[in-house]
Amino acid sequence: MISPVEDTTLPSSVATEMFHERGKISLKYFIEIDREGCIACATCYTIDPEHFESDSEGKSKVVGGTSNGKSTGSFEDQLISQAEAAESSCPVSVIRVTKKEQ
Ligand code: SF4
Repeated sequence: MISPVEDTTLPSSVATEMFHERGKISLKYFIEIDREGCIACATCYTIDPEHFESDSEGKSKVVGGTSNGKSTGSFEDQLISQAEAAESSCPVSVIRVTKKEQ
């Protein structure tokens, strides 16, 4: 049987999550927001409220993460594709999602 990560018909993020779901790999990832450049457009926390939230001024911060300067947080869940969608949708490109396989 072909592994999801070897199946070239699947988007890489889907294949990684399927493989992760089978309990073979623990996928940890980090999210960083450079809040100085955030224009408070609300896109990221509308797309992905599991990982992004608004502060009192409408600027984004990582849920459970720091809120001064750069907001950072680490996660280990099945929802990385939402975080990546928020990253690619940020109009000023101040979000970074970095995977770290263990
Ligand atoms: S999408 Fe980018 S600019 Fe908009 S609130 Fe989120 S971090 Fe800020």
